[in-house]
Amino acid sequence: MRILIIEDEQKTAVYLRKGLTESGFVADIAHEGDEGLFLATTREYDLIILDVMLPERDGWSIIAEIRQRGKQTHVLFLTARDSVRDRVMGLELGADDYLVKPFSFSELLARVRAILRRGPTRQPEILRIADLEINLLRHKAIRSGQHLDLTPKEFALLSLMTQRAGEVLSRTLIAEQVWDMNFDSDTNVVDVAIRRLRRKLDDPFEKKLIHTIRGVGYVLEER
Ligand code: CA
Repeated sequence: MRILIIEDEQKTAVYLRKGLTESGFVADIAHEGDEGLFLATTREYDLIILDVMLPERDGWSIIAEIRQRGKQTHVLFLTARDSVRDRVMGLELGADDYLVKPFSFSELLARVRAILRRGPTRQPEILRIADLEINLLRHKAIRSGQHLDLTPKEFALLSLMTQRAGEVLSRTLIAEQVWDMNFDSDTNVVDVAIRRLRRKLDDPFEKKLIHTIRGVGYVLEER
């Protein structure tokens, strides 16, 4: 699970990241609004922890912008004042929950887990492309009525590509999303995994769903 922390107070941000990392999350920090907005709209996160009071661009404008761009990432906002106006504003703009500063880490963690238990926002349980059907909750993939026997990583890779069908995904993005790591150097891992996935997903069938875009990456789509 990836979490983005948008918080200008260095100490708070570092403290949050440390706690979240120890609790098994991967966390990135943005110290200013613009950087936060950039990360929130260009990378994939399961949750954004958003401080409202930020220099230059405040938390309200960030959440409004994220939603306007169609991103449904969960948002937990942090507010310094326990005012009804702030809370209502945050929730109306599309936040999932809020916390009033100062808060304890255990409380934050409980809220984060509660939000994530709701699952990805507005994501259908079953994805379909051509004769491929993926059940995200049951971790099952079926093509032409045949069950595909995939490893957990292969399933994660196929889910990612199906969720973003029609979009060319770079090796770096795939590596980040599926292996939870940044590696520009050794994206060979991705090629190997794609090859294995193709053997199960495409080789037995006439119509191929995974396509290589030379020099860029891979796309899953019906052609
Ligand atoms: Ca602040």
